[in-house]
Amino acid sequence: MTTTTGRCHCGAVHWTFEGEIPDGTTCNCTICRRYGVIWAYGHVGGEIAVTAAEGALASYSWGGKTISFNFCKRCGNVVSWQGIDPEPDGRTRIAVNLRLAEPEAVAHVPLQRFNGLHDWTDLPRDGRTVGDIWF
Ligand SMILES: [Zn+2]
Repeated sequence: MTTTTGRCHCGAVHWTFEGEIPDGTTCNCTICRRYGVIWAYGHVGGEIAVTAAEGALASYSWGGKTISFNFCKRCGNVVSWQGIDPEPDGRTRIAVNLRLAEPEAVAHVPLQRFNGLHDWTDLPRDGRTVGDIWF
């Protein structure tokens, strides 16, 4: 099985994604556009695991506080977002930032644009992959 890994710049925080990454999402919402991240979605204890040195992560949430954005305290890299409460099925959603992977490891992943600012919908796929927007 394919395993993709990402690490923050200083190396204090790592993530792994087990299996094929179905897509990488860019979002225009008020926070994602500022972070400039590319998200790969999954569930805690499922395909995604985040490993952090003790006290390495800081988190930010606001408004309804349904998810937290988690970043390395030392180097400031955005690592993940995570549901604060589980879903009705008991699983907790998480997404990791594909920007923390090596470029060639995720270049083939299809891009999914998400209109999180206006109507909370996926835009139609346009054939681009993560590699097309890496620079
Ligand atoms: Zn770091």
